[in-house]
Amino acid sequence: MNSPSLDRLCIHSITTKPWSLYEAVPRYAAVGVKGITVWRQALEGRDPRGAGAFIRDHGLSIVSLCRGGFFPALTPADRLKAIDENRRCIDEAAALGAPLIVLVCGAVPGQSLDESRRQITEGIAAVLPHAAAAGVKLAIEPLHPMYAADRSAVNTMAQARAMCTALNSPWVGIAVDVYHVWWDPDLEAEIKLAGRNGTLAAFHVCDWVFPFADMLNDRGLMGEGCIDIRTIRGWVEAAGFTGFNEVEIFSNRLWQTDQTDFLLRIKQAYLNCT
Ligand code: ZN
Repeated sequence: MNSPSLDRLCIHSITTKPWSLYEAVPRYAAVGVKGITVWRQALEGRDPRGAGAFIRDHGLSIVSLCRGGFFPALTPADRLKAIDENRRCIDEAAALGAPLIVLVCGAVPGQSLDESRRQITEGIAAVLPHAAAAGVKLAIEPLHPMYAADRSAVNTMAQARAMCTALNSPWVGIAVDVYHVWWDPDLEAEIKLAGRNGTLAAFHVCDWVFPFADMLNDRGLMGEGCIDIRTIRGWVEAAGFTGFNEVEIFSNRLWQTDQTDFLLRIKQAYLNCT
């Protein structure tokens, strides 16, 4: 397989967390990045409409807003709160001009994963009419099983597919993040199925370094770890996906480096290892 096209390079704003959105956007654009996924914390205290205009004025596509979700909770009142928060997130995406929201679906320590999955499906169903009215698609992102206790009870592509089937809406799809699903023996078959079902909504890349120092914030730059990203990209493209390749790296180690250098390293790693 060849290097991926720079035209499809998107970076998640959190990847260069030390930069504000207003610092990141012109710098991404200057090195040829074509898309950005905006993390909600980067919008705090800002008007999403203005932020959207700023991004588009720099020639970047807004790929998605990260993130909604966290539906399960121990009480009905807290589950309703989560649904309200997701409606706000949808409004924010619409104001920003983001066509997609990535869902980190949630889990509650001590509550069964089955029950959490039931609550997630219910929660998504509750916000779907709002999403459809706003023209914003929701992408269920399966998370690696190491996060099953507290971040997501959706841990495999097959579980995400089951939810998409149950919800049966053109406004729900799946975000494939190599960090979370690279180990899955059914990954190729599930990507193929997602392509066939029209649910392949997003593709996120980074690498799995070992040993890692932190469960959340020690992701690697593409090529630093053990994920065969190029092969997975091949599967995603063979399944008909033509969207952006989104670089999403949370790394205490890389956030401490010079972010201008880091941005150039991302571009190289994207071309060489994605
Ligand atoms: Zn992701």
